[in-house]
Formats: sequence, structure tokens, C-alpha cells
Amino acid sequence: MCMEHSSSPAFILTDAPHKSTKSDPRKTATIDIISGNEPTTSTLPLSRATNTTMADIQSKSLLYFKGFLFLMLGAAAAGLLLAERPSIKVAALLALSIWAFARTYYFAFYVIEHYIDSEFKFSGLGSLVSYLLRRGRSVSREFAPDQSMTKKPAAMPHPPAAEPSADRSAHALQKKVFQGGQPGPNLLITGGVHGDEFEAVAALHRLIRRFRPSDPQQRLIKGSLTLVPVVNESAYWRGDRTGEDQLDLARTCPGREDGVETERVAFALSELIQSADFFIDLHSGGTTMAVVPMTGYTLHANADVREQQRRMASAFNLPVVWGASANLEGRSLSVARDANTPAIYAEFMGSGLCDSAGVAAYEEGCLNVMAMLGMLERELPASRVQHVVEDPRPGAGHMQVCNPSPVSGFFTPNVNLGDEIQAGDLLGVVADLLGEQQTPALADQSGLVLVLRTFSRVLKGDCLGVILES
Ligand SMILES: [Zn+2]
Repeated sequence: MCMEHSSSPAFILTDAPHKSTKSDPRKTATIDIISGNEPTTSTLPLSRATNTTMADIQSKSLLYFKGFLFLMLGAAAAGLLLAERPSIKVAALLALSIWAFARTYYFAFYVIEHYIDSEFKFSGLGSLVSYLLRRGRSVSREFAPDQSMTKKPAAMPHPPAAEPSADRSAHALQKKVFQGGQPGPNLLITGGVHGDEFEAVAALHRLIRRFRPSDPQQRLIKGSLTLVPVVNESAYWRGDRTGEDQLDLARTCPGREDGVETERVAFALSELIQSADFFIDLHSGGTTMAVVPMTGYTLHANADVREQQRRMASAFNLPVVWGASANLEGRSLSVARDANTPAIYAEFMGSGLCDSAGVAAYEEGCLNVMAMLGMLERELPASRVQHVVEDPRPGAGHMQVCNPSPVSGFFTPNVNLGDEIQAGDLLGVVADLLGEQQTPALADQSGLVLVLRTFSRVLKGDCLGVILES
């Protein structure tokens, strides 16, 4: 779905529980429908205009010339001084003085804004003086060198007294591992790959409490269970989809051990996935979208892996089960695909909330899969699966290109999540800031409204919804 392809439907919508349609196994996987490049909420273009107090020179050549003049001025002054007192000592002191002042200037125009106070905008030494006077004594405390280079945003709303990631270089993910009495599969369950998705975190907290050794009724029989409630701590503390480097973790796997923060987290996550026998990655629609509760998996080239993923997705027991092409890269599920680790992901609503029904469904879904794998004694509940869809087309599940907003503005949906709609139906309208100009947004495909935008502010090109085609 959501692509240029307009050939006949490559998958079938069915009401038959636990039954997947035949697919072409040669075509491979993709997923994380919700991991499209949703813009973070900080990209409103108007917000930057208010920050600019600098006198602007527009011409690039004029800017170069200005820089050159400063250099000449400095060189001339230094030359005249040395001519007056030509000695090694004077030359060394002069060099030290130039270096120290340059560092101070760098501190004033760059370090304060980027490491201490993002509100501060440098527009000359005068602005620095007035800023220091304004901030008074609190500023002098924050200038302590140990804080100036930690790259921690000063405006962080939850100052990390409880922030656990003091050792960010190591990127050991915070996890709990529970061992069963007998050998068996190693199941990895993760949440918080995106920092604004909360049902998973709450469900994993419940599982951690459930399997504490103090509760003898809830012991694992077999295998080991690894739980990571918050994979992407930087994104979590920002309350945003991405961390400070703005990289989407679900586009960065397998990452790099020596890369920027998200790449290092991706690397650590990938190592965990590669060492697991089975993997479940829990998501939601984040702050901007809501998703029909569903599980997804890649149409893996290996038939055995594919079948195990189907069974896991069905056992998880959410209404929609969606197998999609395995050919997209960067996801946690891409790593699992390459490691031949059977893996599924799940979505449950979103909108920045933590839906208690979602928390319960996620906890139960994980227990169901564990029971299916023989790790627990538990009776599997009756199936609640309503739709099973497999779409092997390359690019299926690629959300960025799904129903892009025609303009920037205020989005009001005209359909509900889960509605069956036709291509050309009114998905919603996007109003201008006065509410007078209403631009209609029409659905690109026919099918079930699987994902719907719930964050009203929309930028041109943002995804308004994802239709599960029929
Ligand atoms: Zn997500």
C-alpha cells in the first residue's frame, strides 16, 4: 500500500482468524507502519523567526569579505604591537591572548546557546552582557565547566534526578532478565524505541513486576525473558519520537558502536535482537497518530521463520494481523530478519496517551506468545483477530507517502479509525490559521482506516492516515 503501484490488490482482507493468505515468499519484508518520518513537533517553521535578532547580511560574498576584514584587522594590530616590542615573550603572550579571546567568543556565540540555554540567541557581545545581567547569579552557577559540555538541553522538563543514562557512552540498555527453571527460548520484548509511545512501557513494567521472584505463582517454566521498557532513553526524556540527534531509531538499525547517540542505541538494540530466539517490539501511534490495535511481521524469505512469526502475531491476539514486505531497512525487524530471529511488532492507539486497555492487551499479548512458546503455563484465550492481511509488495507499510497533507494547517478528520472507506472519500480537511480556507484531503486508497492523524497541527506532506487496502 501507499505506493506508486496500482496493480490489483496483492493481499486479501479476511475475517478468518489465524489464517493468512498465500504470499510470494521471494519478495521480502517491511514494516513498522507507524515509523514513518513523522516530523517532530519542533519543526514549525514560524518558531525560528522570532528568535532572530542578529543584524542580517544576506550576501555570501559580503559575509566572506566581513570575515576577511576582521582577520586583516587582527593581523595588523598584532603586527604593529610586535613591531613596537619585537620579542619572543610578547609574541607568545599575544598568541595566548588571541587564543583565549577566541575561545571566549566561541563560548559566547555557540556554547551558551547549544549547551547551556537554548533560549539565548547571540547577536554581539552586548547581547551576552545583557543576558548575563538578566540571568544574574543563576547563570554563573550554570557556567560551571562540568555542565557546559554535557549536551543536555537546559530546558529539559524532567531534570534527570531519575534519569538513568548517566553513562551514555556505554549504551547498555536498561533491561531485566528472568530465567526459567528449564532451558528454553530466549524471548526479547522491547518498548520505547520511540520516546512518545507509552502503552509498551507500562505493559513491560507490569511484566517486570509479574516475574519478580517474590511472586512464586508467576515463575517462568522455561527459557529466559529479556525486557527493555525504554530502549530510546534520549527520546523518552524528550517525550518525543526521536532523541536529541533527531535520528529515528527505527531507521537507524543496526547502528554503529562508535556513532552518534541513536546509532549507538541502535547498535546495542541490534546486539540484543541478534542474541534472542524470539523478539517482540511494542509501539503505538506516538503523539501525532492513532493506530488500530494490530500486530505486524515481515514476510520473511525463510518459510519457517515466516510461519513462526504468523503464529506469534496471531497468538498476540489483537484485531488486525498484518504481514508486509521485508525489504525496508533500518528497523528493529530488519535486524531480526537478517538474524533469522522470528519477530513481530505491535501497535495500539497512540495520541501521546497511555491507554489502559492497550497496556492490558500488550501484557496479555506477551503472555500469550510466551505460552505459545512453552515458557509459561497459560490457557490461550479465544482469538480476537478480525483481519489477517499479507501484502508482499515492496514498500508496503511505508507510511511516509500515505495520504500526505495537501497543505500546512489545522487537520480535522472526517473519518474514524477503523472505518471502511473508498478511494476519493473525504479523509478530512486542513484549515488555514483563520479557519476560513478549508482544503479537502481525499483518501488515496479504499480499505480500512488503520492509522489516523490525531495531532491537529499538520505540515504539508505529513501523513494524515494509512488505509489498509481492500
Ligand atoms: Zn514506534
